[in-house]
Amino acid sequence: MDCGPVRKDDATGQAARVSYWDAVYDQAATIQLLRLFAQHPETRVIYFNDKEVQKAIGGGRVTAVPGHNDHFHVEIKRRR
Ligand SMILES: [Zn+2]
Repeated sequence: MDCGPVRKDDATGQAARVSYWDAVYDQAATIQLLRLFAQHPETRVIYFNDKEVQKAIGGGRVTAVPGHNDHFHVEIKRRR
């Protein structure tokens, strides 16, 4: 799934698109949210290009992939 990073305001919808270098981007809250995904045993990969987020989560759990500046991408394991 693709999700928008957390914003400091309450904008929603297409107008709420935010990249990790934008002032309205809430990096601390995005780190908290991605930590939940990173800790979850069924999370397979997380892509997001904010290097500070990658560092904060650690363990190589969050990696950069072209195009992932304004959303993070989470894949969960296939159920067997
Ligand atoms: Zn994606």
